Amino acid sequence: MSEKTLNPFEIVQQQIKDACNALGETEEVFEVLKQPKSCIEVALPVKMDNGETKVFTGYRSLHNDAIGPGKGGVRYHQDVHMDEVKALSAWMTFKCGVAGIPYGGGKGGIVVDPTNMSSGEIERLSRAYIRAIAPVVGDQVDIPAPDVNTNPQIMGWMVDEYSSLKGQNVPGIVTGKPVSFGGSLGRFEATGYGVALMMREAFKATKKDIKDSKVAIQGFGNVGRFAALYAEEMGAKVVAVSDVSCCLYNPNGLDVKELYKYVNLSVNKNMIKGFKGATEELDRNKVFSFEVDLVAPCALENAITLENIHDIKASIIVEGANGPTTPEADKIINEKGIFLVPDILANGGGVMVSYFEWVQNLQNYYWTFEEVQEKQEIKMVKAFDDILALMEEHKVSMRVAAFMMAIKRVADGMRARGWVK
Ligand code: GLU
Repeated sequence: MSEKTLNPFEIVQQQIKDACNALGETEEVFEVLKQPKSCIEVALPVKMDNGETKVFTGYRSLHNDAIGPGKGGVRYHQDVHMDEVKALSAWMTFKCGVAGIPYGGGKGGIVVDPTNMSSGEIERLSRAYIRAIAPVVGDQVDIPAPDVNTNPQIMGWMVDEYSSLKGQNVPGIVTGKPVSFGGSLGRFEATGYGVALMMREAFKATKKDIKDSKVAIQGFGNVGRFAALYAEEMGAKVVAVSDVSCCLYNPNGLDVKELYKYVNLSVNKNMIKGFKGATEELDRNKVFSFEVDLVAPCALENAITLENIHDIKASIIVEGANGPTTPEADKIINEKGIFLVPDILANGGGVMVSYFEWVQNLQNYYWTFEEVQEKQEIKMVKAFDDILALMEEHKVSMRVAAFMMAIKRVADGMRARGWVK
């Protein structure tokens, strides 16, 4: 059986509809939320190292700003398209709603495979992008951050370029910056740390313990690697990890600290392939098929589909990526009684600590790593507990409960502004 739709924008619209229905929300609210407030497409001419100019396409979508400025990352990926960016910006609105932080949702992207570009080319592309979207972003308008294939260095270039345009230092225009230049301690680790916290809470909620549990993680980028490291620190055995190069398996648990060091060696180009600590090196699609307690998709959209949902033996899924589960697979997950912590809660740690970074930038006073992680833990565990309570009260999935909580907050904000009745 093939999937009805894999377009993330249609998926998010259905999720908004389901939550509006469950809340008994007005049609007006759905009408406002079902698309972004604005979405621009920009052409980015960039001088490549060989002297030729190549033109890249970029996007920035602001979904909703009833509660505060738009907030969300910028991804560099060859598959980026406008509908994806729109969907991701909507998920950001709800992610910020769930996290209880005063932001709406934004998202950006560039259609590019940066893996074969030089650092100079990436710098020129990043500066061109922020110049092109400067009219629609701002530290009180819409605030970019890292996402897939973007990192603190890229954020540093963007802030520098934007500050030159404005003729003054504007550190709050972008979050996820290097710590030496207005970044927050704990931001780099924040999304993965949050995913691990949500794993721990999911085990607790299902009367199990993360200690000695078996976990499989899809993706070993910024999210997957810190989720794995912190899950290991909390006592889990990370038995399987995948990335684009392969899937590593070790029934006794991979040594995640060693794997982390391994991918950081430049000869390995950030890939897990060839790591000696695995008993098997398999096709990357195998990652969801092992006998484990929990799987965490921490890569891209459409990772859990009708194709592989029946291979999953875990009783818990924690969505580290944005939109990793298709609606059809989601239905089966609910029928099977798998406990799923949805993306807008599970990976909200990144934007939460982005918010902390922005607050620190605005007040020009910086917190310690421990202060940041403590604040993140308190806020994320509270969001988890509140959503769990809502889930039990309304007898809905955790995903619908999370959307209900977020949509109620946004709808109340829109009502207070007089946008809807
Ligand atoms: N790109 C991350 C996300 O999808 C972080 C966004 C941010 O920090 O603003 O949540």
